[in-house]
Amino acid sequence: MIRQPWIPPILMVIVTFTSALFTGEGVAQSGWKAQDMSRPVPPVEKPPRQELPVAAPPDALVLFDGGDLSKWQNTDGGPAGWVVSDGAMISVAGSGYLVTREKFGDIQLHLEWAAPLPVVGDGQGRGNSGVYLMGRYEIQVLDSYENPTYPDGQAAAVYGQHPPLTNVCRPPGEWQSYDIFFRRPRFSRAGALSEPARVTVLHNGVLVQNNTELWGPTNWLQSLPYQAHAEELPLALQDHGNPVRYRNIWLRKLPEPDADPADEGIRLSTEALDRYAGQYVTEDGSTYRLVREGDELKANFIGSQLLDLIAESPERFVMKRTAGVLEFELDGDGIPTGLTFHIGGGSRKARKVR
Ligand code: MG
Repeated sequence: MIRQPWIPPILMVIVTFTSALFTGEGVAQSGWKAQDMSRPVPPVEKPPRQELPVAAPPDALVLFDGGDLSKWQNTDGGPAGWVVSDGAMISVAGSGYLVTREKFGDIQLHLEWAAPLPVVGDGQGRGNSGVYLMGRYEIQVLDSYENPTYPDGQAAAVYGQHPPLTNVCRPPGEWQSYDIFFRRPRFSRAGALSEPARVTVLHNGVLVQNNTELWGPTNWLQSLPYQAHAEELPLALQDHGNPVRYRNIWLRKLPEPDADPADEGIRLSTEALDRYAGQYVTEDGSTYRLVREGDELKANFIGSQLLDLIAESPERFVMKRTAGVLEFELDGDGIPTGLTFHIGGGSRKARKVR
């Protein structure tokens, strides 16, 4: 995690400009440089009425319910330096980031935050904090109510990369919500990026990041590439020197979506598979065609594409991606004479004609 020091906006522009010159960094994938004040400003929308606090689902892990900071610690593992007051936890200038004791990968995260009153500062210096997913991917928290700044640094931006689709910030002092749906990046065993991180964000119930792809860790000034990291890392909240308040923080760990069915099964020789290849005709005259491609048997059912089959036994093949089963009748020499195709609770018999 790299701390973003507050720098007066005019100096920020100069530093950003010279940094780009000296490092030779190109224009970001959006076509805009990071922290570019001339980038189009997201439209300002009035946020809808929302019942807050939002109740946590029964399976959620509650990270802060207004009580204590027992689920949190300092970046060095010491006691959390933020304070709890009136059911909210408050960023304390200079205390450092607040980090969860537990680690997370893919999550649904809900939290509520409020920018400080009285209003102090402007631009990045007003109500700045941030939600650091896996400690390195920041969803910006900023008082973006009538407070111009660079669009990829306003509230609900993926910091330095993606402005929010709209600005639905509530006035400072009012509670507002983030609902964040995060899919962590995937890396190969060798450490190469195999899938970038993605995030969807609702700000006050309004979609502001739509399955947005992250280009790497978020950072001030630098465009850093992905670096392979653990599958689970702590969630962090940024201390940017402003007394931003948080409450009602809960998350749900998201399961890995079902992977492709494993290629389990037995291996049959190409000669054996060739005995299954051919045409099979049902009683009503429909034709199933089986072909061998390489060392795999495939099925063409009534004009379908070639469907991959996996042999579980010489008598039983299953479809790789559909819950269909082919049961073969074999003669004394193990040569198929017909099959029964089971799918969707029904079945059809077919005899081999060639
Ligand atoms: Mg921030």
